[in-house]
Formats: sequence, C-alpha cells, structure tokens
Amino acid sequence: MYPVDGGTLVTGLDGMGALGDPNDPQAVQAAIRIFGSEAEVIAAESHDGVADPFARGARLSWPPGWAAGVVEELARPEGLLRFAGGDVTIEGGGYIEGAIGSGQAAAVALAATIA
Ligand SMILES: Cc1cc2nc3c(=O)[nH]c(=O)nc-3n(C[C@H](O)[C@H](O)[C@H](O)COP(=O)(O)OP(=O)(O)OC[C@H]3O[C@@H](n4cnc5c(N)ncnc54)[C@H](O)[C@@H]3O)c2cc1C
Repeated sequence: MYPVDGGTLVTGLDGMGALGDPNDPQAVQAAIRIFGSEAEVIAAESHDGVADPFARGARLSWPPGWAAGVVEELARPEGLLRFAGGDVTIEGGGYIEGAIGSGQAAAVALAATIA
C-alpha cells in the first residue's frame, strides 16, 4: 500500500482469476470487502503476466490445500532425479529465498546419494 493524493494505492495479485475482471473497480472492491475493508475503490488496473510474452507467467499462488501435501508430493525425488525451485518448497515457497534453499537442499541430498 502506498499513500497517494486523496487515497491509497494498493497492489495485489490474483493468481486464481477470482476477481473476474481485475480492471473493474466494483469487482476489486468486492474482493477487498472479503478482508473486512471498507475502502472505496475508485480505479483499478491490471497486467496479465501470463499473456505477457516477456513474462509468460506470474509468481506462485497456491490454491488452498496445496501446502498440506501437494507441494511435498511435487518435490518427491524419483531415483536420482531431484526437483527443486521456489514452486516445490513449503519454506519460502514463491520467493527467491525458497528457490535457493530448495536448490541447495536438493544438491546436498543428491551429493549424499551419489557419494
Ligand atoms: C512478477 C514477479 C514478482 C516477484 N517478486 C518477488 C520478490 O519481490 N521477492 C522474491 O523473493 N520473489 C519474487 N518473485 C518470485 C521469484 O521470482 C521466484 O520465486 C524465483 O524466481 C523462483 O526461482 P526458480 O529457480 O525456482 O524458478 P525460475 O526463476 O522460474 O527459473 C526457472 C528457469 O528454468 C527455465 N526453464 C523452464 N523450462 C525449461 C526447460 N524445459 N528447459 C530449460 N530451462 C527451462 C526458465 O526459463 C527459468 O530461467 C516474483 C516473481 C514474479 C513473477
């Protein structure tokens, strides 16, 4: 959130397409109401990272329940194959921190396996 003249600029991510039309102030306001905010949304603008040829995706946004098993299953080793990255770790998942930690853990585990 950033203070601007006459209000507050709020940024956010809609990974599940739950907003409907993220350019529609009414849709954004309805979403904000879920969190108990009384804020009045006077303008809304979005960028579709998935459609952007220079991004071809957006940051991780797990659906409810994924942290309770799906992520660990995605990271389960298969023989000498190890899966690593920010999308397959609970700790720091979705962030650089998680990507580095996951990669380091996979490298250490693989080194121990082939030693
Ligand atoms: C808009 C946005 C903002 C973000 N902001 C932050 C932030 O402020 N702080 C933060 O900590 N994190 C942020 N993140 C998340 C962070 O960028 C990721 O968590 C991190 O980059 C994940 O690293 P990774 O190595 O797991 O995957 P990636 O960085 O996605 O690396 C995967 C690599 O594999 C390559 N690749 C894919 N398929 C193949 C293939 N078949 N063969 C060869 N190469 C392939 C890709 O080109 C890519 O280079 C942001 C992400 C986005 C999209």
